[in-house]
Amino acid sequence: MNKVLVTGGTGLVGKALEAVIKEQSPADEQWYFAGSKDADLTNLAATQALFAREKPTHVIHLAAMVGGLFHNMNNNLDFLRNNLLINDNVLQTAHEQGCVKVVSCLSTCIFPDKTSYPIDETMVHNGPPHPSNYGYSYAKRLIDVQNHAYHDKYGRLYTSVIPCNIFGPHDNYKPEVSHVIPGMINRMHQLVTEKLDVPESEKVFTVFGSGKPLRQFVYSLDLAELMIWVLRNYESVEPIILSADEAQEVTIFDVAQAIAKAFNFKGKLVCDTSKADGQYKKTASNAKLRSLLPDYAFTDFETAIKTSVKWYKENYDQARKTLCALYVQQNNNT
Ligand code: NDP
Repeated sequence: MNKVLVTGGTGLVGKALEAVIKEQSPADEQWYFAGSKDADLTNLAATQALFAREKPTHVIHLAAMVGGLFHNMNNNLDFLRNNLLINDNVLQTAHEQGCVKVVSCLSTCIFPDKTSYPIDETMVHNGPPHPSNYGYSYAKRLIDVQNHAYHDKYGRLYTSVIPCNIFGPHDNYKPEVSHVIPGMINRMHQLVTEKLDVPESEKVFTVFGSGKPLRQFVYSLDLAELMIWVLRNYESVEPIILSADEAQEVTIFDVAQAIAKAFNFKGKLVCDTSKADGQYKKTASNAKLRSLLPDYAFTDFETAIKTSVKWYKENYDQARKTLCALYVQQNNNT
């Protein structure tokens, strides 16, 4: 019987994995979803205690300090140190405890700032990342370096996946740290639920920037299915991009429209061009994934947005609108 430990099991991707595994209920696998309450993975002894208790044979390593642009820009040192610590503790402890496979999570936002498009798996280390998130990026890139080193020295099959922007139920909606989709869902929810005496047709939803930049998104439930496939079937140390097809790229304005539709919003969408757009596009190629899984059907973007908005409305009280408790505690202590 394989025992799979999911670090970061209480987050956006962890909750999606849990939902897919519940549905699949595999007879030959036992899964444990660990959050920061189980162990602070920046701490080696706590990491070792978690592994000693759960005795995993396989690990999906998601735990990370994660945040949007603003949060990264102001906290590069914390993103670097916390993620370096977490990754080193998890990989070394997995090795010491004899775990046969570890699948860790990189991100398309760690690729070189100056690059050609589409980005592919061979380009991870080809130049400095965007200066806004260099702490997160270098910590994540080193996972790939460590995976190769564990393979060279011990023959370990520790590998990584590279998702593009992820969204879905259980996202992080805190304005200071959220990514674009949960940020917009939160703001749209506020707009439709406040000032109920104002007719909705007179309300205005502001899209930050021109709305023109193109972005690739992957629905967390699709990503979870793909990560489980990687865990069971992908036999290479080299990273693999897990992203929807290039043809499914959408503009930021398309995102706003899909969210407005999911809320049945009757007001106007207006672009605030005084706000920064960021890079115009960051297209990643999923050709490697497609060569291995040509028929995988990604959930249609509008449908996935509709489900995510429905989840947010139904779970508004529990939805994460505050920072991870651990970091609040750490920041209060410094
Ligand atoms: P979330 O922010 O939703 O969840 C983060 C998870 O990490 C939570 O379970 C949290 O635990 C846990 N965690 C954070 N710090 C610690 C710590 N010190 N010790 C133990 N656990 C900790 O992240 P996502 O689900 O969005 O991200 C999952 C992975 O995917 C990450 O590696 C991220 O870098 C990567 N990724 C994310 C993208 C995105 O768009 N969200 C895009 C590409 C990659 P708790 O909540 O219990 O405190």
